[in-house]
Amino acid sequence: MSVETLEFQAETKRLLDLVINSIYTNKEIFLRELISNASDAIDKLHFESLTNHDLLGGDENFEIFIDTDKNAKTISISDNGIGMTRGEVISNIGTIAKSGTKAFLEKIRESEGKIDEELIGQFGVGFYSAFIVSEKVELITRKAGENSAVKWTSEGLGEYTLEDCEKDSRGTKIILHLKSEFVGGEEFDFTNNYVLENLIKKYSDYIRYPIKMNFTTKDKDDKEIIETRTVNSMQPLWVRNKNEIKPEEYEEFFKHQFHEWENPQEIFHTKAEGTLEYTALLCIPKRAATNLYFADYEAGLQLYSRHVFIMDKCKDFLPDYLRFIKGLVDSPDLPLNISRELLQQSREVKKIGKALEKNILKQLAKILKNDREKYETFWSEFGKSLKIGVYNNLYDEKVKDDLKDLLMFISTKDDKFTTLAEYVERMPESQKKIYCAMGNSAETISQMPQMEILRDRGIEVLCLIDPVDEFAINALQKYNDKDIQSINREDFELDDEESKKAKSEVEELQKSHEELLKDVKDAIGDEIFQVRLTSGLKSGAVCLATAGGGPSLNMEKTFAAMNNPFMKALRILEINPNHELFKKLSGLHALGKDSADFKNFCNLLYAQALLIEGIMPKNSVEVANQIANLMSK
Ligand code: ADP
Repeated sequence: MSVETLEFQAETKRLLDLVINSIYTNKEIFLRELISNASDAIDKLHFESLTNHDLLGGDENFEIFIDTDKNAKTISISDNGIGMTRGEVISNIGTIAKSGTKAFLEKIRESEGKIDEELIGQFGVGFYSAFIVSEKVELITRKAGENSAVKWTSEGLGEYTLEDCEKDSRGTKIILHLKSEFVGGEEFDFTNNYVLENLIKKYSDYIRYPIKMNFTTKDKDDKEIIETRTVNSMQPLWVRNKNEIKPEEYEEFFKHQFHEWENPQEIFHTKAEGTLEYTALLCIPKRAATNLYFADYEAGLQLYSRHVFIMDKCKDFLPDYLRFIKGLVDSPDLPLNISRELLQQSREVKKIGKALEKNILKQLAKILKNDREKYETFWSEFGKSLKIGVYNNLYDEKVKDDLKDLLMFISTKDDKFTTLAEYVERMPESQKKIYCAMGNSAETISQMPQMEILRDRGIEVLCLIDPVDEFAINALQKYNDKDIQSINREDFELDDEESKKAKSEVEELQKSHEELLKDVKDAIGDEIFQVRLTSGLKSGAVCLATAGGGPSLNMEKTFAAMNNPFMKALRILEINPNHELFKKLSGLHALGKDSADFKNFCNLLYAQALLIEGIMPKNSVEVANQIANLMSK
């Protein structure tokens, strides 16, 4: 049959227009697309040969071969897969069978020529991507089990030709006649075998069939020889059976794949079958990346579809609080060409993500239960992420519920990590709430004057020493039915009878000393919001508390570090009425609220409370002088 010229279907033409007018900035994807098609064609033949072995005609060595010719400016991609008949070439290559094509092109039309790459990316152009880099494409194909072959040729401009030809073995060979900008240039040289080798390793390493190329090397006698090498590793670790994979193999894989220096802490390898099929290979790295909590950290998983690499750093699977997780997802239920935008809306991605999240949390809970040391190592490195997760999901009870049992804080009981459940388990019967305290370290917290009475009552306190701890606790507010109460807040009180009695006595005293307390406040000035008496101190004279809803002293520090000096804690100076200093204070007050001695005394009381909190008094020199005066009396 002579050469036959056919028109592309209107939609194909339109699509080709878009491709040729180079909508893709990522030129190299053509190789991935064509290799993926070749691999699919072999898959099909392999599948059909299961019931019709004769189709293989004795050639069972499936392979993809890639060849370049600098002079002719060509790349060819050959496979010994199923091949196509003339009719199939017309229907597969000349038309677009994919559903949604029309709607897609309509959408592009609606965008009035403003074609953005994201939009295009939603629709895979597959074979047509060859035209991104080619001025002419030839496809020679021979269907398995048949003798005749056909050659398809097109410049991508509205029509293509078909002619019968010779091909001595089954399968498809695609010859790309490259546009000159893709040959020999600095940026692109797709006729350079090493460039192609790298692209194959990058995008198609895990294709199940060998991708072979010829490389020119020298033999012992310095003579040039051609060596055929398989470029891809062919072995997607994650598709192998879990039981057959050695720990070292996983470790090597992660180091290689995710550029880690150290072995991961934990590896999760999950396979799901059924309505949604996927394999995920995830890990918790040994250490948190130095920029893990900074804007320039790029979280996300690698995405594969049928072992073909689609994209890196896909953020849509896991919630932000699992940003430290590295790994990949491979699912045949995701299309090869999927834009980042489309991924966000993909129901499959959401479902896979939810399942992965659930699984990771389950595994973490398991580690916490079975291997405390390991969990604490994890927690020290990545606990902050989970705490940020609680805080960032302030209004999401489900997330908070999922995370609450994974949280740990240092307890004043033994300076060790404890979970909220363990804390509650140890609570004395009379204790109704969970107590926590903010401070720079567990040591400073255990030395706080408020701690004395708590220790007497056998009550331990959770130390909130990481700035994010307090934000997380505030978001949580409760653990199961137990309120969480800060001992640095004005509303702090204990629930046992003795404490309640002491509290009501102090309230009485407070009433009878209202004038004194007001004058103390006036003497100290605007820095404090209130002065009052407390039943919460034993041997300590004073402490600082902060008013209910507002920021705490620690939050004030955090905000100040973030250049927000306006978030101020409302400071309350609390005085122990049973302390000797209170009697002295009352005595000095009797001499007159304007006396220098009374004012100095008030200042020193406040300075003490500040120092206990690790805060430098503003008038530190004055305070030092006042102390010196007192000492020399
Ligand atoms: P997709 O692969 O997503 O279906 P393509 O445009 O890449 O879209 O390919 C269209 C069709 O052409 C394929 O579905 C397949 O039937 C056929 N095809 C493409 N490449 C080959 C090949 N190397 N061997 C056999 N058939 C092929």
